[in-house]
Amino acid sequence: MSAAGARAEVVTPAPVGFDVARLRHEFPILRSHVNGHPLVYLDNAATAQKPRSVVEAEADFTLLGNANVHRGVHTLSQRATQAYDDARATLARFINAPDPAELIFTAGTTASLNLVAQSHGRTVLTPGDEILLTEMEHHSNIVPWQLLAGQVGAVVRAIPVTDAGALDLAAAARLIGPRTRIVAVAHVSNVLGTVNPVAELAGLAHAAGAVVVVDGAQAVPHLPVDVQALGADFYVASGHKMYGPTGVGFLWGRRALLEAMPPWLGGGGMIQQVSFDGTTYAPVPARFEAGTPPISQAIGMAAAARWLQALPWAEVEAHERDLLDYATALVSRVPGVRVVGTAPGKVSVLSFVLDGIHPHDVGTVLDTRGVAVRASHHCAQPLMRRLKTPGTVRASFAVYNTRAEAEALAEGLHEVRKVFG
Ligand code: PLP
Repeated sequence: MSAAGARAEVVTPAPVGFDVARLRHEFPILRSHVNGHPLVYLDNAATAQKPRSVVEAEADFTLLGNANVHRGVHTLSQRATQAYDDARATLARFINAPDPAELIFTAGTTASLNLVAQSHGRTVLTPGDEILLTEMEHHSNIVPWQLLAGQVGAVVRAIPVTDAGALDLAAAARLIGPRTRIVAVAHVSNVLGTVNPVAELAGLAHAAGAVVVVDGAQAVPHLPVDVQALGADFYVASGHKMYGPTGVGFLWGRRALLEAMPPWLGGGGMIQQVSFDGTTYAPVPARFEAGTPPISQAIGMAAAARWLQALPWAEVEAHERDLLDYATALVSRVPGVRVVGTAPGKVSVLSFVLDGIHPHDVGTVLDTRGVAVRASHHCAQPLMRRLKTPGTVRASFAVYNTRAEAEALAEGLHEVRKVFG
């Protein structure tokens, strides 16, 4: 897997403080081969691999504890309900939410953002009100607000991004005004790795009477998150990006805001009384969990949170920073590479373009060498427009990646250069 030899001058030992090799044993997929090469998985921002403990938590529940929640008097159903409620409490602790009842299980970040838009947004917005986003948002944090704006006659605006890929806070201060009702921002950009100044933005937004919605999809795998310290009003994330299952995520919201929100999806589990004369609704969180929820997935997501919390965080952060710095240095030596996103303090997401070569071609050649990266607009077309490129190549590093894998990426890029000139 190592590129040692041809470019030995760049191969230096990693200052790793914890045992990455041991950690990798928890991820059998990392021992697999793709196209005859050891897999080098650098597409973690799209979805992270899952450790055994997550898969086993889900499998144990499914094989030995499976029952529906909330509706049963029988023992198995009560156990399932307990496990599901415990998962909620674990995730609430994971983001330092004051009360587990404020955490709603959803199908993921996208579902959570649509829920906030259609329930909170639709209730509080009036024609002419403003929804403020940023130029670096994922489509999941743009389109739901555009749909809402179309429904209520609101206006969507965006805080600009600097050439380095940071948020222009001075512009944010100018854009937040008396008509701003919602400020929706990524905690971490999926393209640039930029960590946005959420607490500062929240200060500005609250002073103007707006609420702050934070898209934490890319933050939860990299940073300890404290929704209270951030001053967020809503915080959302997906299980599969934090080493957990697909099909599950959460919405955390301040209790007073959640309690003022009408249901969005109707069905079983979210009611108090149903009659043809009128229906009353359950309190939060059940009010927003219509139908059978993703039970085993929620249990798996909680296992992922426990797995993350058990890691030595100072060492994890040092390791990921080292991987990012090392990979950035190696990749920057490839002729014609331009790194996109150089904001200080960014997480281990490395986006770049190769002069004269389409990102898809780069990704395809890397794949022949077993190196999995993403090559696309990354569901961030407004940001691509800002960066004046149709797409980038993105190598996103997780806690289990190694310097040898960064070297394999750089070697692959030298090969791309040879193939395309
Ligand atoms: N927000 C950000 C910043 C993301 O990176 C992604 C996925 O890539 C999403 C939202 C959407 O997440 P999901 O597809 O899990 O709903």
